[in-house]
Amino acid sequence: MLKNIILMGPPGAGKGTLAKQLKVAHHLVHISTGDMFREAIKAETPLGKLAQSYIAKGHLVPDDVTIGIVRDRLSQEDCANGFLLDGFPRTLVQAEALDKLAVEIHRPIDVVVNLDCDEKELIRRISGRRVCKNCGTPYHINTMKSKIEGICDVCGGPLFQRPDDNEEALKVRLGHYNHDTKPLLDYYKAKGLLVNFNSLVGSEDLFDEVSLFLKSK
Ligand code: ADP
Ligand code: ZN
Repeated sequence: MLKNIILMGPPGAGKGTLAKQLKVAHHLVHISTGDMFREAIKAETPLGKLAQSYIAKGHLVPDDVTIGIVRDRLSQEDCANGFLLDGFPRTLVQAEALDKLAVEIHRPIDVVVNLDCDEKELIRRISGRRVCKNCGTPYHINTMKSKIEGICDVCGGPLFQRPDDNEEALKVRLGHYNHDTKPLLDYYKAKGLLVNFNSLVGSEDLFDEVSLFLKSK
């Protein structure tokens, strides 16, 4: 089974949803840089204050800061049994830093799972997205409703709309994806690590397909 995994794809492709399913099914550590930043913002730490100024506008948090938090997390003991990197790397500088780090800590990347999705659908998903304030589980107001409106199925926490899920910030985020992150697909393709999945099939089918693939190797 492939266990050291990078999840890639544009905002709204379903990385977070898939990561939460894979984490439970295969006992992997979920490392979401977006979640880590949102926790720091909630706790009002210096990192949170810095991150917020970028995230609110849809910009990327600077590489040195982002690489630092991933380095700390990935070096921890619990990542020895496998990890899912969700939302990292997003730039070539981050990808190169991860390569070095992976060698240093003897945790080589096994596979890059890329989720394909067209832009129209991304906009539909993100504009209807609601997220649990406590545990980060994502929902959609039409297609992935919680059982009770406004309440998280997993933990009972309140659902809210992320402040960066507005039209203006989303345009900036898609711009960064196309300009900074998409080139990484060629980078990982050249290393023979890239596998593409169509995320339009829906979250259950996508989970089955990716799970089967990871287990088959
Ligand atoms: P999504 O994939 O829906 O855009 P994330 O939760 O992964 O959302 O990230 C939210 C925001 O956090 C990003 O728009 C960016 O500002 C910041 N961020 C997350 N990961 C990174 C990263 N690897 N490098 C720089 N900024 C990041
Ligand atoms: Zn919750």
